[in-house]
Amino acid sequence: MSKKIVIGNWKMNPLTLKEAEKLFAGTAGLIAGDKKVEVVVCPPFLYLEKLRKISKRISVGAQNGFFEDTGAFTGEVSLEMLYDIGARYVILGHSERRAMGETDMDVNKKVKSAIKASFTPVLCIGESARDENHEYLNFIRKELEACLAGISRNSVSKLIIAYEPIWAIGEGAHSATPEEFLEMSIFIKKILSDKFGVEAGGKIRIIYGGSADEKNAGEFLKIGKADGFLLGRASLNPKKFNKIIQIAGEI
Ligand code: PEP
Repeated sequence: MSKKIVIGNWKMNPLTLKEAEKLFAGTAGLIAGDKKVEVVVCPPFLYLEKLRKISKRISVGAQNGFFEDTGAFTGEVSLEMLYDIGARYVILGHSERRAMGETDMDVNKKVKSAIKASFTPVLCIGESARDENHEYLNFIRKELEACLAGISRNSVSKLIIAYEPIWAIGEGAHSATPEEFLEMSIFIKKILSDKFGVEAGGKIRIIYGGSADEKNAGEFLKIGKADGFLLGRASLNPKKFNKIIQIAGEI
């Protein structure tokens, strides 16, 4: 059985490097050293290199990355560059990036580039709303298949799928239920096994994101059988983040 993983997505926070160092060190100081749970923090790009050196217990990841290695792509940062400065995980296809125009085709290129650069890609998928006819299941199938098009079974050993229903993310939203997650995770596993075979597909971890916190984490792990979490707000609070890691280590 693979390790549980807890990933923090700091988004565009905090405002200064000094604050980022304080937050990262504060978080690292609370986490047990037993490494039962894989812990990753994804800060803004420009804090990555400094933060990576603060703690061996927490790995750092990027929140995005461009698929070309170098070239005339003003404003972009390539996945190869991010790997070079120590990022080993990368969140791809987050709904906030998709809302800014990122397409499944972009995400697909990024997943391929991330695999080529030896990253652990964390591919985010999720529907914006649920409907009585279960059309959202077709949406998830199409999104997953498009983002993984052309990827072979021998290159997905590190891949992680983060199921993040868009309606569950952020301030004022409510999380999915562990039962909703379980149902979706079974659905995703079937798509992955059909595509990559039972062995390779079965090894892909499926984690939950969307208003997950220290209060509902236990149920997502026990009832929902989640392999871990992608956390937004809770990752900016060292005590909450650590509590979730602790819970994941016990289940
Ligand atoms: C996210 O944006 O990936 C996320 C899960 O956010 P939150 O936990 O704040 O809902």
